[in-house]
Amino acid sequence: MRSIERGRGQRFDGQSRLAMIQYLLVAAFAILGFRLWSLQVIHHEEYVRAAESNRLKTIPIAAPRGLILDREGRVLVDNRPTLSIIVNREEVKARGKSVLDLVDELIAQGVTLDRDFVRARLEVARRQPLYYPMVIEANADPADVAWVRAHQLEYPELDVIEQPQRRYPYGRLLAHVLGYVGEISQRELARPEYEGYRPGDIIGKAGVEKVYDRLLRGRDGIRRVVVDSAGREISQIEQIDPIPGRSIRLTIDLDLQRVAEQQLGRRRGVVVAMDPRTGEILAMVSHPAFDPNLFAARINTPEGKAEFRRLVTDPDHPLYNRAIQGLYPTGSTWKVLVATAALEEGVISVKDSRLMCGGGLQVGRRFVRCMGAHGMPDLHRALVVSCDGYFYRLGLKLGIRRMHEWVKRLGMGQPTGIDLPNERGGIIPGPEVKARLNPKDPIWRDFDTVIAAIGQGSVAVTPLQLLRAVAGIAMGGILHRPHVFLEAGPPGQRLSYQGDDVVVVPLHQRTCEMIRYSLWGVVNEQGTGTRARVVGFDVSGKTGTAQVVATHKAGGKLKDHAWFVAFAPRSRPEIAVVVLVENVGFGGTYSAPIARAIFEAYRNKHYGVPEEVEVARQTPPSSTGPSSDGEPVSQTASSTSDRPAEPTETRPPSDRGEGEHGELIERAPDEPPGAMRSERRRIQPAPSSTRSPAAGPEAATASPPESQSADPAANQPRSTMRKRP
Ligand SMILES: [Zn+2]
Repeated sequence: MRSIERGRGQRFDGQSRLAMIQYLLVAAFAILGFRLWSLQVIHHEEYVRAAESNRLKTIPIAAPRGLILDREGRVLVDNRPTLSIIVNREEVKARGKSVLDLVDELIAQGVTLDRDFVRARLEVARRQPLYYPMVIEANADPADVAWVRAHQLEYPELDVIEQPQRRYPYGRLLAHVLGYVGEISQRELARPEYEGYRPGDIIGKAGVEKVYDRLLRGRDGIRRVVVDSAGREISQIEQIDPIPGRSIRLTIDLDLQRVAEQQLGRRRGVVVAMDPRTGEILAMVSHPAFDPNLFAARINTPEGKAEFRRLVTDPDHPLYNRAIQGLYPTGSTWKVLVATAALEEGVISVKDSRLMCGGGLQVGRRFVRCMGAHGMPDLHRALVVSCDGYFYRLGLKLGIRRMHEWVKRLGMGQPTGIDLPNERGGIIPGPEVKARLNPKDPIWRDFDTVIAAIGQGSVAVTPLQLLRAVAGIAMGGILHRPHVFLEAGPPGQRLSYQGDDVVVVPLHQRTCEMIRYSLWGVVNEQGTGTRARVVGFDVSGKTGTAQVVATHKAGGKLKDHAWFVAFAPRSRPEIAVVVLVENVGFGGTYSAPIARAIFEAYRNKHYGVPEEVEVARQTPPSSTGPSSDGEPVSQTASSTSDRPAEPTETRPPSDRGEGEHGELIERAPDEPPGAMRSERRRIQPAPSSTRSPAAGPEAATASPPESQSADPAANQPRSTMRKRP
């Protein structure tokens, strides 16, 4: 019974299985039939079109981007031909494949494609018409190019085209001004300023490449050809030639740029040289820098991606243009502006400008000190020795309102309007600013004014702002808008710079003369800037040593920033220079020599080397100059450019006045000023242990004993100070 039932069950199972197979067969045939009908009837036209398009091919012809030249026409940026492998998506589709299938197939055949790169490209390509070819390997490997060419019969959907690639022959030189290029992003495509751009376009992403992209980019051409089923070209239907981009000539002088780059070397900082008569930027260096070739050539390779990650995560921010984006306290360079304001407001006059130094000033419970004892200097002397005591008092007499108003008028705390992207404004001190930044202690006090008078406290401006302001004062109150664009080709349709809206700050001639004369004294009268002296070129400038607030990153970054801002020649300035070296120490020691090298290069180029210099090169430094004025240029260049920032012992005696500005010393009124000295020394350059070979015993004895803040042994500022006139 059990067995019969089982037999029946088996028989029943067999029947139902047969029926099942029959149903499945019917269903399969139905699907096949439907598919056949679908292919032949519904999608008929689509496939006819695909077959036709198989025979019609669109090949883009990339337009070369315009060259970027220096002011003398020397090539700073050009293009190099590269080959790219492209795929015609229409043909891929017609062959019933997807692009990624094809890529996998090619990778299996040994072609070195990057699947992620193709996938990213596909995202972008979705917005393009299907017939428009898509790059699957840019800057293709020669072996891959050879493979594609050898397999045209099997893979007619592949092609090799020539694509000009941006090339920056000087690498890091001028990187922040030139900028770099890259593929347009989805987000950029959505913005109105990129209207008319297409996915896959190479556009300027930074610097001149970005600001002048519309001029530099050309218009791609296109070629439509008929090919046979194996992809061989039969005839050409039409060709639209590409229109190359326009070449741009910059205001940059490659010779000066080279000197500036070499002088700054591997130190973090800024060098900008400008023609104060026009606002033309002659050189602009921001270190550390980056290699723009990374973005143009290597960004899609694994090494390139790693390099990019390093750039973005580098704590020194190499991508950042410190000249226009770095906000710094100005230190004593600020005194030029305060002095100008005080003269214009009649707080002091050219004839009567004496104020007390007093070794510093007691403000409430705090004593802010001057590094020297300067007696009762006039403005000229106060600027020459950078007397803080004088400027504390001058600041109080001028008052914060008028100081704020004047530095604002001179363009501080606002973008200069230079034709480079992402320029920053900054902060200038004032009661409103303090209330906003310091809500716990919003009241503006005399102490704040005193600190503000020497460029500390809430002063945060870009080096370019300072350069423009000081150059403007030297020019009698005419402030040009700094710019790097000179003109665009081609000849016949020249396009010159149009953006110079001059700001005129009405200044009395006697004020400007007084300032020019005082700044000349800083460099030429044993002041703080003697290391910038250039024979026969009347360099006039101001040093600054800006304290770094201790809340910033610790370590070596607590050392002061070294500033120097200058122009030359004194009475009819042709070139103005600002130098900032981060976290090294005194402006007169570290930044003035860099400026000198630039002034010297400029003088030699435009006026030739004067005879006296040739003579001076033969003789050792004379006793009149405490600094290395007589040093040959080459020696200076090699000694400053190749080694990293390193404190040296050779400092002109005048440096003494710098470096301790505006320190927030809390002490009782009766405590002597010297009491804080040993504490302060902590953030000074280390003493003899770090003495560099160049500044050995000879160098140390050649200069008078000085720089007490760096050398405990020479900790007698007052006695050495009194020796000076
Ligand atoms: Zn003083």
